[in-house]
Amino acid sequence: MYPVKQKLSEVLSALPEGVRLVAISKYHPADYIRAAYDEGQRLFGESHEQELRQKHDELPKDIEWHFIGHLQTNKVKYIVPYISMIEAVDSLKLLREIQKQAQKAGRVVRVLLELHIAEEATKYGLTLDACRELLAGGEWREMANVQICGLMMMASNTDDEAQICREFDVAARFFDEVKAQYFAANPAFCERSWGMSDDYHLAVGHGSTMVRIGTTIFGPRVY
Ligand SMILES: *Cc1c(COP(=O)(O)O)cnc(C)c1O
Repeated sequence: MYPVKQKLSEVLSALPEGVRLVAISKYHPADYIRAAYDEGQRLFGESHEQELRQKHDELPKDIEWHFIGHLQTNKVKYIVPYISMIEAVDSLKLLREIQKQAQKAGRVVRVLLELHIAEEATKYGLTLDACRELLAGGEWREMANVQICGLMMMASNTDDEAQICREFDVAARFFDEVKAQYFAANPAFCERSWGMSDDYHLAVGHGSTMVRIGTTIFGPRVY
């Protein structure tokens, strides 16, 4: 087995205070999650509904699960009863469905809005303008069962560290903009989820409050 315990403690000791680790366990077996759990890690991220459901059923119930992948609206109902946070909300349609299902389940679901800042054309997420439009529309204010807790983004997959830092800065400035405009009186809007295995050491210098790290902790994924 990959040295999960050792890698986890290396990552944790590299994180400054105030930055939480979401251990991204997608495609890794439940044993790996248990190894991290036994070291005290309680926050894990998954990106596929079925895989998450199996792991949720099998593993301790005090694990906090974040959904980090692209979520189809028809899958929302399956994860809403137990999910701790849906990190990748990229449309009003998805937000509406989360509200609907969360109301049915009688709970409030915490979410992040996913931004598309990276240069790759393939990635999901709202452009800054689309995110401004969603917030300006105001429909989210009426969603009593959804709590918008911040922003999430992925930087470009590149070796150009200057570019990665620029993208984190764009996200951090955008966070300040929407915080001031819409959430100044709302302390729950505080999360900046950026930083993955290859760039979390940069992300923590650019306002990240939450890093999502998989490969560095669990090793390469077997698809
Ligand atoms: C898989 C994934 C990660 C983790 O990536 P690593 O490079 O393995 O750390 C982080 N965020 C999202 C959205 C992912 O899909």
